[in-house]
Amino acid sequence: MTRRMRLAIPNKGRLVEPTVTLLRDAGLVFEAGERALEARVQNFELDILFVRTNDIVEFVNDGVAELGITGLDLVAEANCGVPQLRTLGYGRCRLTIAVPNDSPFRAAEDLAGLRVATSHMSLTRRFFEQRRIPVNVIPVSGAAEVAPRLGLAEAIVDLVSTGTTLVGNGLRPIEEVFASEAVLLANERAISERDGALDTIQTMLSATLAARDRKYLMMNAPLSKAAELEDLLPGLESPSVIPLAHQGMIAIHSVVDADAVWGLLPRLKAAGASGILILPIEKLVP
Ligand code: AMP
Repeated sequence: MTRRMRLAIPNKGRLVEPTVTLLRDAGLVFEAGERALEARVQNFELDILFVRTNDIVEFVNDGVAELGITGLDLVAEANCGVPQLRTLGYGRCRLTIAVPNDSPFRAAEDLAGLRVATSHMSLTRRFFEQRRIPVNVIPVSGAAEVAPRLGLAEAIVDLVSTGTTLVGNGLRPIEEVFASEAVLLANERAISERDGALDTIQTMLSATLAARDRKYLMMNAPLSKAAELEDLLPGLESPSVIPLAHQGMIAIHSVVDADAVWGLLPRLKAAGASGILILPIEKLVP
């Protein structure tokens, strides 16, 4: 009997909520209790393992789980070549060099010969080595932002999303080391054995993510305006144009980028569209 496939996801921290939401949006049904270590997906041959965000790369690389979701920064930090299936569009942050507001440093080169505190040792070392800037990388296990105040280091390399933690600690960013977001990982062997379940999960997640960025627009218009409206509505390939019962009138259906909708509406109206409906898309498989 073959084992059910396993997907390792974070059990704590900022990636938990968007990851669980993505899996549920994709249609997977499971219970995720506060302290659960594992959840059985009721409608798919899959078990979800809730583990530390930092352990996920290792779990997938070692084959404890066939799939995993974690931060790209942690994958780059581990530097073990675990296959990445796709980025997931959330958990966006930047590994950034930051220095005290009142320091004279403007660029990474200004830190030559100085100390840089970080919990991202490998990425930080690689960055400064590639730039041939000799620095002393000081390992800290968390809260790197207090290191300059404690006199431990002249600069830090830490993850930043909004920047409020930096501001709160009297620090300012000077350079980006690495851009990160959540990523779907797979075990090398699981990919080579390529059972259908792995492909299906990948398709489910991709279809869910693609749908999040799009809206389905429906509108009526006079037939004479069809060409003008088609120019505004690229759709996936081309919009659908459907004749209506009233002669000379058409309905146009189109898939558009969610971010473009509000900008498009006045232009569609000006071009003769009426009764415009904006609908969510549940899944989109291009
Ligand atoms: P956590 O378990 O909350 O410490 O999550 C750590 C992971 O969340 C990091 O490895 C990043 O991939 C991601 N992340 C997204 N935004 C941030 C942020 N502002 N600070 C730290 N980690 C972030």
